[in-house]
Amino acid sequence: MILLTGATGYIGSHTWLALHAAGMRVAGLDDFSNSSPEVLRRLAALGADVSTFAEADVGDRAALDAVFGRWQIEAVVHFAAWKAVGDSVARPLDYYRNNVGGLIALAEAMQAHGCKTIVFSSTATVYGQPRSLPVREDAALAPSSPYAETKLIGENMLHDAERADAAWRVAVLRYFNPVGAHASGTIGEDPRGTPNNLMPFVAQVAVGKRAKLRVFGNDYDTADGTGVRDYLHVEDLAEGHVAALRHLQGGAGSLTVNLGTGHGVSVLELVRAFERASGRAIPCEIAPRRAGDVAAYYADPALAERLLGWKATRDLDAMCADSWRWQAANPDGYATV
Ligand code: UDP
Repeated sequence: MILLTGATGYIGSHTWLALHAAGMRVAGLDDFSNSSPEVLRRLAALGADVSTFAEADVGDRAALDAVFGRWQIEAVVHFAAWKAVGDSVARPLDYYRNNVGGLIALAEAMQAHGCKTIVFSSTATVYGQPRSLPVREDAALAPSSPYAETKLIGENMLHDAERADAAWRVAVLRYFNPVGAHASGTIGEDPRGTPNNLMPFVAQVAVGKRAKLRVFGNDYDTADGTGVRDYLHVEDLAEGHVAALRHLQGGAGSLTVNLGTGHGVSVLELVRAFERASGRAIPCEIAPRRAGDVAAYYADPALAERLLGWKATRDLDAMCADSWRWQAANPDGYATV
């Protein structure tokens, strides 16, 4: 049994389905602090066994002990954390308590129950402003927000645990920009309030929930002046977790890899692709740059391919088509029902 923390979140829910498709049994954990119980009904409708779900905060050690006591957990895929960069600047202590405190409780519970295999959800923002592109895993680390800092602390904590006890097996996955939705259109990203990220914002403009997209800067040193990112389909990302888990369970050593496509896409390129996929116009207005944004970053994903045999297969059109299918069928996210 694989313990999935943050199981009803955006990436967690897609990973649950990917693990299920790979024939693995999943025990899910989530406190619904940033997700909906409706996700469980959707997962069940797609064939996942959700009877093995526990509602709990990952920082609750007694709840974790109960989970490890109840099911034979061989490995953990850990998503339960908060991820909004701006929010982390405003509420840093909450982020440290939730993201770092949660991982400490989890790792201690794992150790106590003899389970030392973990896939850890990290982020490309640990690189900060990249010095060269594409970004390789050995690039300088310069987290520029409390959020990024909590992830780097998590990486280091797990590596230190492994140095002290070679039985630990740790896969650190540094994600670039996950977007898109499950091909069924029933599972997707459901941000609370105004979306911070580009793709959910564009999707909400397309469906008529928001009047226009504000493009944060068109005077960057990029081909069309707008910011460039490495957008990655969430189903490819979910499959990356399955590959990492298989790698660790096969007895191979720990690793730290980027998960991205290796292709940079500008804000305006993404908008045009979404217009094609949805058949809707996306009104845009050029706005000032957003504080803290970098002009461009995209992954060198070669190491993940070499070590895991994993490579993103879904292109930008598929990302937009799947995101649109989800948004059009669920204009108010999981609250639509
Ligand atoms: N962006 C934008 N308008 C928005 C949200 C994002 O122009 O309403 C731009 C942002 O400046 C960046 C890109 O879209 O160039 C991706 O932003 P996102 O927040 O999705 O990812 P991140 O910047 O964290 O990589």
